[in-house]
Parts: sequence; structure tokens; C-alpha cells
Amino acid sequence: MNLHELTIQQARAGLEQRDFSSVELVNALLERIEKLDRNIGAYITIDPDAAIYSATEADKFLAKGERAPLLGIPIALKDLLCTKGIKTTCASRILENFVPEYDATVVSMLKKAGAVIIGKTNMDEFAMGSSTENSGFHITRNPWNPEHVPGGSSGGSAAAVSARLCTAALGTDTGGSIRQPASHCGVVGIKPTYGRVSRYGLVSYASSLDQIGPITRDVMDSAILLNVICGHDPSDSTSADVTVPDFTCALTEFETNGLKGMKAGIPKEFLSVKGLDPDVEKLFAHAKKTLEGLGVEMLEISLPQTDYAVAAYYVIAPSEASSNLARFDGVRYGLRDSNAKDLVEMYKKTKSRGFGAEVQRRIITGTYALSAGYYDAYYGRATRVRAMIRDDFKKAFEKCDIIISPVAPTPAFKIGENIDDPLTMYLTDIFTLSTNMAGLPGISVPCGLSRTRLPIGLQIMATHFNEPALLRAGYGLEQTLGLQDKFPDM
Ligand code: GLN
Repeated sequence: MNLHELTIQQARAGLEQRDFSSVELVNALLERIEKLDRNIGAYITIDPDAAIYSATEADKFLAKGERAPLLGIPIALKDLLCTKGIKTTCASRILENFVPEYDATVVSMLKKAGAVIIGKTNMDEFAMGSSTENSGFHITRNPWNPEHVPGGSSGGSAAAVSARLCTAALGTDTGGSIRQPASHCGVVGIKPTYGRVSRYGLVSYASSLDQIGPITRDVMDSAILLNVICGHDPSDSTSADVTVPDFTCALTEFETNGLKGMKAGIPKEFLSVKGLDPDVEKLFAHAKKTLEGLGVEMLEISLPQTDYAVAAYYVIAPSEASSNLARFDGVRYGLRDSNAKDLVEMYKKTKSRGFGAEVQRRIITGTYALSAGYYDAYYGRATRVRAMIRDDFKKAFEKCDIIISPVAPTPAFKIGENIDDPLTMYLTDIFTLSTNMAGLPGISVPCGLSRTRLPIGLQIMATHFNEPALLRAGYGLEQTLGLQDKFPDM
């Protein structure tokens, strides 16, 4: 096998047996990035010298027989995770030259586990979007078909994992941004329970919805990465002080007991959604049958607020964004327009130049929804819908252990197809954003290719802190379908 094809688990074994060095592994990926990323656009920043330096350090530890979960493994990071000394742009012109003074907690945890940061990946500006077309710098193409989007907003991370331009990556998910691009690019993506992973050093989009999570080749790698990044962090007041299990045990559990005794709910409202692609429907049915074959009992459940989830999300997320993004005012850091005659004009010019169209749209929507006189009608009402969504899930999980659904209504759409129609773009998030509204964990696992050879994923959701159930069922599906070694010809 080529070095760029290795999973974390395989790379770790090879490194520990000294079959190859971390420097060789990193170089193999850097060469591949050099050759292919021009056509994919997965990365915003690559720092080869820093990557080689950390790989050299990792090799020294490996030579001494030292071990750490990610020692010498190259990981890519979505470019809204602060990295000390490496540019962190959020794919925005306003932060084009921003170099953080500190590492996000997850980045420190990765480094402590021995990981090599290979680069920072492209995304929709400030994570607002579903296609990575909203990046302030360049678009990212789907490695399976360059005319299609990779999904978003973590499109760069998903494309990089899919095209074998890194061993694994981190993304963030506010309304689906890990699961949807993972589905569109044929890789595994997990949005952990809200509070499971520290958000300290993650540039906030919508703080009550954002979560960081792994995007990997297979379910095992996601479990390995979760083991590294989960845990209580006093620097994030919303971080949950709960015990972190060894997530790989969920996979062993499948090996020993299969999926017997597991109950999966299928939300009837999801399957009657308008515009559900026939290939998505077919592969969902196939995945369902596969899980049944492994012992899962299926039952119909109801999530009655499904019709209102998109509308409520697109009030809450922009409201929080309008408040979070107020800090980019040209004063403290980032871009400043210095041709203004006074302070107010400087604010206006800086923001108009620095923020792209979608970000401006969200700030305006959010500011409006929060303004006196409209607050109750919009934000207040949306938070009430949110509480009802949470209740719907609570009721559903009294009857089942997991809920399964498609990740997105269609396979990856064409570049440019939805970009001028924000409402259509927003509606593509219908299956993923309710989990964020309820703070629940969700995974996307590849379940096949469409007739046009575009990957399609299955979404599995579980109750709070029950990531082991997602991993166990997801692993069962993956091992049975055997799609994990499939990757696009490029
Ligand atoms: N597409 C959704 C949005 O634009 C979700 C994005 C995300 O999860 N970061 O808000």
C-alpha cells in the first residue's frame, strides 16, 4: 500500500514497527498535495517546514520506543481552529493574515498525542454554507467528480481525507458541516455531543450549536481521534465534565455481539421530504436492510418539528453569528480599512471589504431577528421550536437506541447549482441540523455510490453522550458493506 493510502491505525502500526518514518509519510502526502491540490483546492495553508520539523521530532520519539496515540500521524485542520504561529483565516478576507498566539484546546490535545499538523483546510467563510463555495479564497472540488461540490462547510477537510491528501482531519459541525461533506466525499464524519469536545480556540459561528469532530477514512480512525480530542476543558464553560470512554471498545463490542438487541428509529417525516433523490432513497433502504441483517430492529418514529427545523435554525444560527462576528471590527485584529475618515466609516468599510456576501447576509438576518420589537417574533419563537425539537428526540429515544436517516436529500450537487439560491441551499441541511439544535451526536458513514458515481452516506444519531452506539452501528455497516477502501481515481 502507498503511504498516502494508510489509515491512522495502519500508519501507526507501520511507524511503530519502523517500516517507514513519519518524515517519509509526511513527505508522501506533501508530494501528493503538490501534485493534486491545484485541482481540488482542499487546503488554504500548508507549512511544509513546520510539518517536516514535527515529523522529525516524532521520529526521534519513535526511535526511542516511545508511544502516543497519534505519534507521527499527519492531521489536517479546518481553518477555524486556532493554531499558534500558523495562519487561521476562517476562509475570510477579514482574517487573511491572522496568526493566532495560541492553540485551540483540540490542537494542543492533538500535539500532545504526537500528531503532525499537515495543513489548514478550506471551508465556507466562518463555516456558513453547505458547499465550500462561500470561501473567501477559492472553491474546493469534490475528488469524486471535480464538477461537483464537496459539501460544506468542512469541505476542505472532507476532500483532503477523501483524496488522500492527509491521514485524517478535523472539521466543525454547526448544522451538518462534518456529516454532510463526509457523506458527499465518501468518508466518515462524526459530530460529537455538544460539550463533549472543547470549543476553546474554535472561532465561533453559532456557539450553542458548534462542535468539533473527526473526518476520517473509516470508523476506527474516528474512534481513535475521538479518544484524543474529547474531555473536559475548564477554558470552555460549556464543556461537559463527563467521563470519556475508550471509543474503540464500541467496535470490539460489534465484533463480539454484532448489533443484536439494538433498536433503530426511522423518522417518518424525513422520508417524505420533498426533493429526496431516488438514489439516496435506494441506498438508505439498502443500508437499513444491511443493519437489519446484523440484528437491528427497525421501528417508525416521529419527529413532528421537522418542517420547522430549517426555519428555526436559520434564525438561531445567524442571530448568534451576528453577535459573535461583531468582534471583527478592524480594531483588535484582522483587516482594517485605513482610508476611512472616522471610526464608523472604518467599521463599515472594513466589514464590507472583509466579509463575503453570505456572511453579510447572516449578520443582517441575525441582527434583525435580535432587534427590539422583533426579538420575540423571531428569535424567541425559534428557541421555542428548538425546545420542541429536543423533546421530540427525547420521546423518540425512549423507544430506540439510534435513529437512522439519509445525511442529505441529494448527492453532491454541481458547483454553482445552488449558490444564487440561499433558500434551496439552506433546505439541503434538513436532515442534519436538528441534531445540533438538540445537542445530540451524529455520524455519517458511506453506504454506496449514486448512479453518477457520487458517494452517499447514512446518518446515525443517538442520545447525548452515546457516541459508542453510533460507532458500533456505523462500524457494523462499514464492515458489512466494505466500502472503506474505496477512493476516487484521480
Ligand atoms: N449549512 C449550515 C449553515 O450554513 C451548517 C453549517 C455548519 O454546520 N457549519 O449554517
